[in-house]
Amino acid sequence: AGGQDGEVQKAQQAAEARKEPGQRPPTIFSKIIDRTIRADILYEDDKCLAFRDVAPQAPVHFLVIPKRPIPRLSHAAAGDTELLGHLLVVASQTAKVEGLEDGYRVVINDGKQGAQSVYHLHLHVLGGRQMGWPPG
Ligand code: C5P
Repeated sequence: AGGQDGEVQKAQQAAEARKEPGQRPPTIFSKIIDRTIRADILYEDDKCLAFRDVAPQAPVHFLVIPKRPIPRLSHAAAGDTELLGHLLVVASQTAKVEGLEDGYRVVINDGKQGAQSVYHLHLHVLGGRQMGWPPG
């Protein structure tokens, strides 16, 4: 987004990034977890959920999220090690089921400069086309 709307959105994102976790209302992803809103779910277990991104940036684009809402990667602690490892393994297994045998990209956006928009930690898995480097 550009222009005035883009500036407003950037200011809102920056304000959001400065908040402590307790100050944030549940995100849209909590509503996907509790089935208040619909998503195309690819995988679920007691710790995490994988679902297709509503605005796909590649032929295959899904998100892997923990059910416990860690707001962002920079808020992860030593006690989250096993959970974060689990998210990566689920990303890999779901990528396989999605047929991404030629490779794919895993991205975590953190905070304002990382262009994070939803403050519930998530892994993006993108595949089905050639990726470029560096990312934008
Ligand atoms: O990393 P970032 O926070 O920017 O990514 C959030 C992602 O969540 C976006 O790719 C957006 O399309 C996706 N999204 C979604 N379903 C929603 C809201 C956002 O897949 N209901």
